[in-house]
Amino acid sequence: MSPESTPPSDPIVGIDLGTTNSLVAYVTDKGPTILLSESGEAGLPSVVRYSESGRAEAVGESARQEAVEHPLHTVSSVKRLMGRSRKDAQGELDFLSYEVVEGERDAARIALPGGALKSPEEVSAEILRTLKQRAEATLDTEVRRAVITVPAYFDDAQRQATRHAARLAGLDVVRIVNEPTAAALAYGIGRTTNNAEPETIAVFDLGGGTLDVSILRVIPSAQEAGDGGGVGGVGGADMFRVLSTAGDTRLGGDDVDRMLVELFTREAEQQFGSGLDFTPRTRQAMRLLAEQTKIKLSKEKSASVRIEIEGAPDGGVYERTITRDEFEQSIGAEGGWVMRAIACCERALRDAKLTPQQIERVVMVGGSTRIPLVQRRVGELFASEPYTALDPDRVVALGAAAQASILDGREQGALLLDVVPLSLGIETVGGAVAKLIMRNASVPARATEMFSTSVDAQTSIMLNVVQGEREMVEDCRSLGTFHLSGMPPMPAGIPQIEVLFMVDVNGVLDVSAVEKRSGKRANMQVVPHHGLSAEDVDRIERESFTHALEDMTRHRVVDLVANSRLDLKWITELVDRVGASIDPAQLEAVNAGITALRSLVERGDADWRSVDAEAFHQAKQSLDEASVPLHEASIARSLRDE
Ligand code: ADP
Ligand code: MG
Repeated sequence: MSPESTPPSDPIVGIDLGTTNSLVAYVTDKGPTILLSESGEAGLPSVVRYSESGRAEAVGESARQEAVEHPLHTVSSVKRLMGRSRKDAQGELDFLSYEVVEGERDAARIALPGGALKSPEEVSAEILRTLKQRAEATLDTEVRRAVITVPAYFDDAQRQATRHAARLAGLDVVRIVNEPTAAALAYGIGRTTNNAEPETIAVFDLGGGTLDVSILRVIPSAQEAGDGGGVGGVGGADMFRVLSTAGDTRLGGDDVDRMLVELFTREAEQQFGSGLDFTPRTRQAMRLLAEQTKIKLSKEKSASVRIEIEGAPDGGVYERTITRDEFEQSIGAEGGWVMRAIACCERALRDAKLTPQQIERVVMVGGSTRIPLVQRRVGELFASEPYTALDPDRVVALGAAAQASILDGREQGALLLDVVPLSLGIETVGGAVAKLIMRNASVPARATEMFSTSVDAQTSIMLNVVQGEREMVEDCRSLGTFHLSGMPPMPAGIPQIEVLFMVDVNGVLDVSAVEKRSGKRANMQVVPHHGLSAEDVDRIERESFTHALEDMTRHRVVDLVANSRLDLKWITELVDRVGASIDPAQLEAVNAGITALRSLVERGDADWRSVDAEAFHQAKQSLDEASVPLHEASIARSLRDE
């Protein structure tokens, strides 16, 4: 089909048809966006429940919630069967609750209790139909075309089955894209306009039931000579060469849920006596709770669990708290779950004949990569901070949408990423912004600055990363915050905190902070351009001109307040210690300077407009000068004391 024949009102959406969850996305003027369900859900659980007569009666969350109660009628993980014979899929069968039989030409078929047979394509079509309807409701137009992603290792039959499923759902597949390629595209990898060099990346995709590690060679479009080059070739299969894939079809988040269920069951049996027969409802509750607990532990240091055990004596409530440490010990054990995932990465590297150091970036995909231990271990292996700025469970769909919009010829006018569109900085004392990377700096860009604390014995600081042209945080946009904690207590101004900003060629910003004396570090990643249209950028820039003078004055006063406070603290300490040993007239001058500066600090702090910045600056200077004899006396004293 040719793009010319299609009117612009005929959108192409991007679909991630996942084993566990599926999503649909579209590029709006805000960039790639996930299209939500009516109730605001992003992911659609890839689960379909059939009625006795073989009619699909629930798709998605409700089918998932009740899966344990209807094991034979509920079809989940059908992706494992796509385009495969029953024999091929033999190894997968113990993972499935429903019955799989051999159909025509050996193809796998799902046998429902009422006697109906369903092909994996038909089940996938139910999921795709739901996504199509979701897209139509959001975009308010008929949706007939889609880019659909598949694992890099899918063979031709599996790809054909995917196309077939789409056709059953009334969707024409404009292109099948490999999931790791889509993830890379979502980050803009391979879409730079600079004369970027080819590079090698790893995509680590840990989902609900499967792990896929792919090593890709990315050849930027500028280097693509002749056919396949130019805008039309961007994102084409020729740009992303799969060097190797390694996977484990039996490794995913579900295993962790199962481990937790086993733990709950074991402990509940200890509590209530074994021989207890858990009802399907209780088992269902345990399964859902296990997943919730796991998800909670990705964010919190501990999670509490409470399950009512039906049929158990004494009201039958099982309760316990599980800490992240305990959780990490069980999934991170030698030879355990996380180690198996790392072994897979090593296999992928070996097959590509590469060392971890030859991988330039690592992209994290799949909901299970939210587990902090997974991020740490993958980061350690590749000795580089993995890309996590985009939601790992959405990144494939976002990339599919990006590819769709390229194929749709809608990419013109998109924000180019070869410059930083808005300045990037960090919040300092008093709500001022210290800009590290200026607007229009070309990427990659890198800047560092030293900061310190403003309060004694501060062991943790919050870093607020902001974007915008104005001088005060409240007039800029916060991109996110993170904490640098665990610093040893030191007097204000002593810690040396080096903040490093790095924007790579794709506009991904990596901010790290390290306290030099203790070596404590912390970092975060953001995609700064996300959600900003070209108009937003223009408006922000215009506003910064209008407010430039006012903003600068305010910034200056705020800085003066903060710095003068530190000065006042040092100098009053010096007065207490060595004031008596200097000339009384000089001491008099110091005390007068302290009084003057202190009053400016108080007024400036209350209202920055009430003070004259220049006079403030002068007052600070003259106190600094007046205090020179104190410093000399202090040095003389310490020499004498030695
Ligand atoms: P798939 O690609 O297999 O369809 P997803 O990428 O959607 O799967 O990942 C689903 C898995 O991610 C599930 O096992 C889910 O429990 C897990 N998951 C989602 N969010 C988190 C989280 N915050 N922490 C840990 N695991 C998570
Ligand atoms: Mg996936």
